[in-house]
Amino acid sequence: MTAFDELMSFQRETEALGQVAMRLGWDQETVMPRGAAQQRAEEMGALETVLHRRRSDPRLGDWLGAIDDDLLDETGRAQMRHIRRSYARATRLPETLSAEIARVTSRAQGIWAEARAADDVAHFLPTLREVVRLKREEAAALAMGGDLYDALLDDYEPGATAAGLAAMFDRMRPRLVDLRERIMGSGRAPAPLEGHFPEAVQMALSREVATHFGYDWRHGRLDFSVHPFTSGSGSDVRITTRVDEAEPLGALYSTLHETGHGVYEQGIDPAYGLTPLGAGVSMGVHESQSRIFENQLGRGRAFCGWLHWRMNEVFGSAGAADAEAFYAAVNRVHSGHIRTESDEVHYNLHIMLRFDLERDLIAGRLEVEDLEEAWNTRFEADFGVAVDRPSQGLLQDVHWSVGLFGYFPTYALGNVYAGCLYQALRAAVPSLDADLARGHAEPATAWLKAEVQRHGGLYEPTETIRRACGFEPDEGPLLDYLDAKFGAIYGL
Ligand code: ZN
Repeated sequence: MTAFDELMSFQRETEALGQVAMRLGWDQETVMPRGAAQQRAEEMGALETVLHRRRSDPRLGDWLGAIDDDLLDETGRAQMRHIRRSYARATRLPETLSAEIARVTSRAQGIWAEARAADDVAHFLPTLREVVRLKREEAAALAMGGDLYDALLDDYEPGATAAGLAAMFDRMRPRLVDLRERIMGSGRAPAPLEGHFPEAVQMALSREVATHFGYDWRHGRLDFSVHPFTSGSGSDVRITTRVDEAEPLGALYSTLHETGHGVYEQGIDPAYGLTPLGAGVSMGVHESQSRIFENQLGRGRAFCGWLHWRMNEVFGSAGAADAEAFYAAVNRVHSGHIRTESDEVHYNLHIMLRFDLERDLIAGRLEVEDLEEAWNTRFEADFGVAVDRPSQGLLQDVHWSVGLFGYFPTYALGNVYAGCLYQALRAAVPSLDADLARGHAEPATAWLKAEVQRHGGLYEPTETIRRACGFEPDEGPLLDYLDAKFGAIYGL
């Protein structure tokens, strides 16, 4: 065996163990007995230790030193790019620091949940201060003199920089705030859907929609969880959703969003299975697939026409006067406080708020004591309403408690990429609206699979989108799409 073969064989076992770790996480969020949490934490901790040792194993250093990337084909060089990056990160982090972060964040998540339930910021701040201190330390170890935030961001979006994202967000924010204000001043306020929507029917329809969008049930399943998510790669990719019988759009669009993530993983070239190329290339590209399924396609006028008809059939009533009222209800813009419930206009403003605050926290320009005031001031400026209690503000998201700094901007980047892909998709599939109006998403999903999904980790994230679109991705297509769509709905 050559050094490359030995490396890939070692890597394959690491990837398999990584899949096992993910499936433990899936189990914990879906079917694990409540009393098993303590033991599960130990099981996952043990597996994480094994994984960290494998990712920083000295034999990796020997193999990486012995391999000349220039002698490999394109796929081999891409594998090496991923393994070299992962090895560099793993060896820069002292094992004691990784263990301390794992220990503190697993405790912090519980304290955050208590603080949120009690609307008590003070209960969470000492723990958050500890998490921020550790993440600054981690960033310093990874950055080796470079930008601290970039070092954290690199874990989720390789190649992206905080400065680049900040410049893009600064261009987006005034247009989004302006669009928001014009919508709120339009005098139009579409009614939400009304009625009772039985769980079993919602689930059957959610499955039907996932099937239309190409989800492969032989390699997946749909379960319930508190927060919907997707788990796994290769031949076992699972999605979850949640159901509210008074409000059917939550379950449907959560399912469609996760279907986008799931179809991406299922659509990757099977030859890349259990290798570093066998998973979505970045969080931003992943979110572009879930968002284009959910928003540009799923909440578009054409597909909403089909969904309105279908909901009238399966529920007896879709809960709206007609297809136009249904489309307006699906795309209702409202000044809510909660990111996960926000509409397409507000969503990116939520992300920019968190991005600016967490960047300042990591850089030491903002201290944890001043975070709540900074959050509330910014929220009122961008959303036009005050934060009335911490669970509607600073305490709403789990991310910071579990140490996810540098993750939030990938949500907005995913929206930007979805905007670019949608423009390219419309040009490539002229029958798109006619297809979606009949509930046929196959031409759209086939294009996404061929242009984006099948490549897995073969190209860098931006390169993946650039190749699919045929142009340099930026925020323009998303902002133009939002202006046109909401301008029509709200008569602007
Ligand atoms: Zn997502």
